Amino acid sequence: MEYGISTKCLYGNGTEETVDRSGAISFPIYQTATFAHRGVGESTGYDYSRLQNPTREQLEKVVAALESGVDALAFSSGMAAITALMELFHPGDHIITDCDLYGGSIRLFDNVSKKNGILFNSVDCAKCAPEEFEKLVGENTKAIFIETPTNPMMNVIDIEKLAEISKRHGLLLIVDNTFMSPYFQNPIKLGADVVVHSGTKYLGGHNDTIAGFLVTSTNELSEKLRFLIKTVGSGLAPFDSWLILRGIKTLALRMDRGEKNAEKLVSWLCQEKKVTKVCYPGLVNHPGHEVCKKQSRGFGCMVTFEVESKELAHKILKDVRLIRFAESLGGVETLITYPITQTHADVPKEVLAANGVTDRILRLSVGIEDVEDLIKELEQVFHE
Ligand SMILES: *Cc1c(COP(=O)(O)O)cnc(C)c1O
Repeated sequence: MEYGISTKCLYGNGTEETVDRSGAISFPIYQTATFAHRGVGESTGYDYSRLQNPTREQLEKVVAALESGVDALAFSSGMAAITALMELFHPGDHIITDCDLYGGSIRLFDNVSKKNGILFNSVDCAKCAPEEFEKLVGENTKAIFIETPTNPMMNVIDIEKLAEISKRHGLLLIVDNTFMSPYFQNPIKLGADVVVHSGTKYLGGHNDTIAGFLVTSTNELSEKLRFLIKTVGSGLAPFDSWLILRGIKTLALRMDRGEKNAEKLVSWLCQEKKVTKVCYPGLVNHPGHEVCKKQSRGFGCMVTFEVESKELAHKILKDVRLIRFAESLGGVETLITYPITQTHADVPKEVLAANGVTDRILRLSVGIEDVEDLIKELEQVFHE
């Protein structure tokens, strides 16, 4: 029997598989670097925590279950996960990305992966046309790397259509699913090969821990990545694994509440005259609305909007109090981010301009506060 997604948040695919036999309801933190052996060739299944640790393993089981993957690997950050993933590729390999990606991923690809000989092309997925990806496929193309919705412009791309293209050309389809979280979207079920998460965001959910995940759809991919995680040594520590496990227990509740709040904030933003654009896939006039409805169980808690002037954007960032002006997303606290100087500061100016990331664009990660308090504060900062 497969559990529903809220039950999986607590137990993954089952309650029996835990290594701990004490019956502890909260999974223990195995704060140990190494494990003793009874004799040569006899192992408890654990040797050294860089390779595996029971707490990390429990977290990995839960995340694999949430994403309907074969396996999940927990890393010390989202970027550590993507960095290890890039080790699957060789000099000369070509990867197609969407152009509106998390700034840190663009920085990694531009400054590290390219130096290592990997070639990149990007597609403007604001056009919502998966065929654009296919046009760029060449002899050395090995993968497609996307986010949907994208960061920060909330463009939506059809995962199933991209999976068809990937399969046809023997490519890996990699989907960074951080923005939707497994609660709202499961790319592997739609044909993706690898799912990436910044566990720092919705999975952790409390703005208190940095973590990352790779979820795989096959044993073959899992074996390659297990070799890499133990070799490059970027696995998540036991205590941080426990913090993320604890965070995930309330994922369903946090996502439902955050989305409700986001919908109300979007309504308010849409009627505010000084707001010139609202990017949220839940809006019926959003170009990706129908695709999002088809492939996701919700529209998420991320909202990007544009105001009439740079001065107003700066005033908002200076005057908010309850809403915190901070980088990051996915926590219980509502955060407002200025992509142009924060998350996307290292993205080339022409790329930002082409994506519409201007000095008037603000991004909200909507938390679980009383939404009336958030709206009251925005009314004040816009009008006083
Ligand atoms: C934050 C983020 C990352 C990077 O994750 P870290 O945990 O900060 O290293 C990658 N992708 C997306 C979409 C993110 O929001």
